[in-house]
Amino acid sequence: MPGISLRTVYMTLADLTDMREIEVLSVDGGAARFDSNTDDHHHVLCCECGNVEDVYVGGVSDLEVVGLDGFTPSTTSIVFHGICRECAASST
Ligand SMILES: [Zn+2]
Ligand SMILES: [Zn+2]
Repeated sequence: MPGISLRTVYMTLADLTDMREIEVLSVDGGAARFDSNTDDHHHVLCCECGNVEDVYVGGVSDLEVVGLDGFTPSTTSIVFHGICRECAASST
């Protein structure tokens, strides 16, 4: 997100923690996000508004991964980047 400082991002996330019970969750390997869902699940991330929603993905343990030799994953987190319903609706 060009033009938005990291500090602003973290302040926004801090605001979010006030809204519900949360867990810290890393999306995109960088920014900390918060999640109240402790199920084994994955996420969709809206590139327009930054909204993150939970999704459930089947067959994750059977994924064919190149370059994972010698690495033992403990958890797998899948993030689908795109445009959320609200942003898609408001852009038309
Ligand atoms: Zn959106
Ligand atoms: Zn989640």
